[in-house]
Amino acid sequence: MSGKDQDRELGMGQEITRRDFLNGMSIAVGTSLVAANSTWLEVFGAPQSPFAPEKDPSYYPPAKSGLRGSHDGSWEVAHDLRDGKDKAWAEPVNDGESYDLVVVGAGISGLAAAYFYRKFAGQQSKILILDNHDDFGGHAKRNEFQAGKSVLLGYGGTQSIEAPGNYSKEAIGLLRELGIDVRRFYKYYDQKLFDSMHMAEAVFFDKETFGADRLVPQQGLHYFGLNFAMENVSQIPIAEAARMDLLRLQHARVDYMPGLTPEQKNSKLIKTSYKDFLLQYVKVHADVVKVFQSSTHDLYAVGIDAVSAYDCAREGFPGFKGMSLPRSHEQNPEQDEPYIFHFPDGNASIARMLVRSLVPGVLPGDTMEDIVTARANYARLDDASSPIRIRLNSTAVRARHMGDPANAKQVEVTYVRGGQAHRIRGANCILACYNMIIPYLCPEISDKQKEALAYCVKIPLVYTNVQISNWKAFQKLGVSAIYAPGAYFSNVTLDFPVSMGDYHYPRSPDESCLLHLLRTPCEPGLNCRDQYRAGRWELINTKFESFERQVRDQLGRTLSAGGFDPARDIQAITVNRWPHGYAYEYNRLFEPLDQPASERPCVIGRQPFGRIKIANSDADGHAYTNTAIDQGFRAVREIVGA
Ligand SMILES: Cc1cc2nc3c(=O)[nH]c(=O)nc-3n(C[C@H](O)[C@H](O)[C@H](O)COP(=O)(O)OP(=O)(O)OC[C@H]3O[C@@H](n4cnc5c(N)ncnc54)[C@H](O)[C@@H]3O)c2cc1C
Repeated sequence: MSGKDQDRELGMGQEITRRDFLNGMSIAVGTSLVAANSTWLEVFGAPQSPFAPEKDPSYYPPAKSGLRGSHDGSWEVAHDLRDGKDKAWAEPVNDGESYDLVVVGAGISGLAAAYFYRKFAGQQSKILILDNHDDFGGHAKRNEFQAGKSVLLGYGGTQSIEAPGNYSKEAIGLLRELGIDVRRFYKYYDQKLFDSMHMAEAVFFDKETFGADRLVPQQGLHYFGLNFAMENVSQIPIAEAARMDLLRLQHARVDYMPGLTPEQKNSKLIKTSYKDFLLQYVKVHADVVKVFQSSTHDLYAVGIDAVSAYDCAREGFPGFKGMSLPRSHEQNPEQDEPYIFHFPDGNASIARMLVRSLVPGVLPGDTMEDIVTARANYARLDDASSPIRIRLNSTAVRARHMGDPANAKQVEVTYVRGGQAHRIRGANCILACYNMIIPYLCPEISDKQKEALAYCVKIPLVYTNVQISNWKAFQKLGVSAIYAPGAYFSNVTLDFPVSMGDYHYPRSPDESCLLHLLRTPCEPGLNCRDQYRAGRWELINTKFESFERQVRDQLGRTLSAGGFDPARDIQAITVNRWPHGYAYEYNRLFEPLDQPASERPCVIGRQPFGRIKIANSDADGHAYTNTAIDQGFRAVREIVGA
């Protein structure tokens, strides 16, 4: 079949929303990803005057589909700054605005910092929050889809409140003050729905990697460990010897490191990748490695070649039953609490509740239930009558003390909005943006601090939400979550079954619903930081059309036996592309994790610089919502004192 015929069969020409809208003008981002070396002016032309897209009543980013996440229009100025192409905005307009605090970054850390600052400094504190995206929330983004008269909600990034029992008192306290009672999710999250419909997990083996397309049931006992029942192993398209090895791996109680003490084993496992453990210690057939290769993508965004066997043992991967390992002092928090603390739009609800608290008139209501269906009025975000303002589509390019940092009374922040640079002042400034841009914003900081900030290589990942007309194919196949070790998207799952307030999960398989597809681009074989760099490069060079073709092809092949037809059943696709995704978490396979905290790059990097403080989850080297809140709190404490 020719490529064109194949595209037609996949439905590539179908009328789904695949265009993105930026600043009121339609841009075919799906077909013309902006060249990485273009300047803002080359791409968007002369600045519009006045530039205020958010005031347009039709401005509503959550409903956009196509290429989202770090959407085109959000990153070009920062890349120009990195590349020294900043002459276009050499003459900033001085708007004469002055604030008590200027926050760069409207992610959860920046919003939380504004919240804490107001709490300490008083209700009338004047705060401006800048963000380069067309929506607030940072990674915590909301995706909306129209399904007849109803709206389906998806998470474009930050998925869930993970292990809230482990939150600091500041982080859980903030959630409580916003009105979030995490215990209610036990009622809202239907933990029995899929079981009651006999829907479980499966693995999709693709013909490019395994020689045949095949969907095989599996019982993942843990978050991402794999476990195949004896009768299903024979269906896996791998060599017979590999099937035997897989069963041996799952069931044998063998000590693969005899003669070592439990502590010595741990030390060895820390410096051995799970892949090497399988090949060199368990001595499995190479096909077994292929089965597990992407099973760590969900959490680490790299495969088992770059995750230590020690971590895999903690997560419940097979092979360690006979190893007599000491019980880990670092238990996986997910093992203590169920993974159910999920708003239908993920932690975007937290960001929305923060905004509701900070800026009057943007979001109605006052409960954790009514936030779910509340529609934000973006025109009110940056309102001169509000002490706290959020200015979107605005990239900070400079944060500079007015005078000597030790004695200065103000920080001048320059940002670019609609192609025009603006200058404002704040008595204090919190950079709740990415670590790696801070050396460009503040070239005066020490080389040691710059080097530490640059160490963080943010982790790329893609969260794709696909609206389908019904989920009968899933029901027929008896699956709700699919791991696909060799495919483009490593995981395909039905959306979490959460109903709360006026929002109802589409419980009937006849109803339109959302699928969540995960891709974490990486380059196996390299160290993890280089894998992340390679993944980022891939993302900036991938057009929406390519994602769409992969979505259609993979879903069609995975679900065809259930009657799924990608050309007929796919209604909308939103690709949330996060080249700068998770904060960099140190990887014990490649880095020492026992160094004193004060020597960790994230700690060196977050040191205050005069009136400029540093928040963001990067500042702690952990990609979690609570980290973002904690870092916002710490940065505020550095301003107001203990
Ligand atoms: C896909 C994904 C899924 C996740 N899932 C979970 C989860 O389930 N549970 C969990 O606890 N955590 C999760 N995380 C991690 C969590 O989202 C983050 O730790 C947290 O949201 C980070 O918040 P932040 O404010 O520190 O940073 P961000 O959310 O990155 O916000 C920083 C903001 O600053 C902006 N910015 C950067 N530079 C500039 C500039 N120069 N000028 C203006 N603005 C700028 C950025 O664009 C961004 O909007 C996930 C992360 C990702 C990427």
